[in-house]
Amino acid sequence: MNTRHHRLDAASIKSIIAPCDFYLREQALDGFKAKSKGWVEGGLCPFHNDTNAGSFRINLENGAYTCFSCGAKGGDIISFIMAKYEISFVDALKQLTNEWGVR
Ligand SMILES: [Zn+2]
Repeated sequence: MNTRHHRLDAASIKSIIAPCDFYLREQALDGFKAKSKGWVEGGLCPFHNDTNAGSFRINLENGAYTCFSCGAKGGDIISFIMAKYEISFVDALKQLTNEWGVR
């Protein structure tokens, strides 16, 4: 009986990888301060040459992120991976699947 599935499925990936764990690994959270509704802000943005902490904001509950300086923004950890590594949606799912051992 084959019980092994390898599902490259955004919904399952998002249900398995907690955004707070993801961001602790992908993004230095030093300097971030808790705001409301899961948002933390005040860290360095990975999408522009950020030397002035304060413009980047992450939601540790749903994975959304936004930068007030360069305009980078996305609604979940998959869009963060796509933007950070400049890869496609499918490649982002593969990378998350491999790195986080999602099966
Ligand atoms: Zn930025």
